[in-house]
Amino acid sequence: MVKHFAVIGCPIAHSLSPVMHNAGYKALDLAADYQKFQVSPEDLGEAVLGLKALGFSGWNVTVPHKEAILPFLDELTEEARRAGAVNTVKVHKGRLIGHNTDGSGFVRSLQEHMELGEGKKIVLLGAGGAAKGIAMALAPFGVQLCIMNRTPERGAELLEKIREWGGQARQEVWGRGEWLTQADCVIQTTSLGLKKEDYPFSLEGIHPGTLVVDIIFNPWETPFLQSAKVLGCKIVNGMDMLLYQGVNAWEFWLEDKAPVDAMRKALYQALAQV
Ligand code: NDP
Repeated sequence: MVKHFAVIGCPIAHSLSPVMHNAGYKALDLAADYQKFQVSPEDLGEAVLGLKALGFSGWNVTVPHKEAILPFLDELTEEARRAGAVNTVKVHKGRLIGHNTDGSGFVRSLQEHMELGEGKKIVLLGAGGAAKGIAMALAPFGVQLCIMNRTPERGAELLEKIREWGGQARQEVWGRGEWLTQADCVIQTTSLGLKKEDYPFSLEGIHPGTLVVDIIFNPWETPFLQSAKVLGCKIVNGMDMLLYQGVNAWEFWLEDKAPVDAMRKALYQALAQV
């Protein structure tokens, strides 16, 4: 029997998830398909019931539904509870299980470039939804997180949540500081850079060789990453975060290894055409 998967969001036209998942099914000759559906906030509850009634095995959830979907689900995994948000739903024995692979996907992409462990110092620029998922997934590794956010109140909320779950974190004022010069890794999670705008944050003083990540991947190199490269830092964009949140969702749904190379290739090809 063909298994059906999807992504729901609003807007959704730009989503590359169908390309990535369908390429994976093709690579393994699996009887499965993955579609995208635009769902407005007021229709979310009906859409969830509809997907279940139509026999979908699971679906991804993107902006603006990641928190709003919580009341429509039967169970949450620990990752979803930690993040307070769901990006993956699995239908299991008629029950809707909410999961979150955004943070674990990011961690998996980061581990291709650095080892995570106690004593590692990581600066997180931004404290929005993406930063929250990333911070909650990094905290269990015992890393020391330093949050810097334009609005300190939002940074303080994130700090409290990290500590509540046993993580080590502090907040520094938005701007250059000692933490930046001592960091093993700096992660840019704000929405700045999407329109190639300059970044109001100086990386001056950062050690060459520090790993600098921007979770945006379009443009491929944001002005922030370009300035890090000029300073001799190793740079990584957000493409593999997208890839691995999909890979982890696949593995949650199908309880088997995903064809990462085929999914990556399809994503890169699709992005080249955007
Ligand atoms: P949110 O709206 O939840 O958070 C936005 C963040 O950006 C906040 O920290 C906000 O700070 C900050 N910000 C916005 N404008 C400015 C500014 N002018 N100066 C300084 N800080 C600013 O968004 P998300 O966390 O959901 O998404 C953030 C980015 O991450 C988006 O670009 C999104 O595309 C990308 N993303 C990439 C993913 C991937 O797979 N690669 C996955 C998810 C997201 P403040 O609190 O002060 O407003």
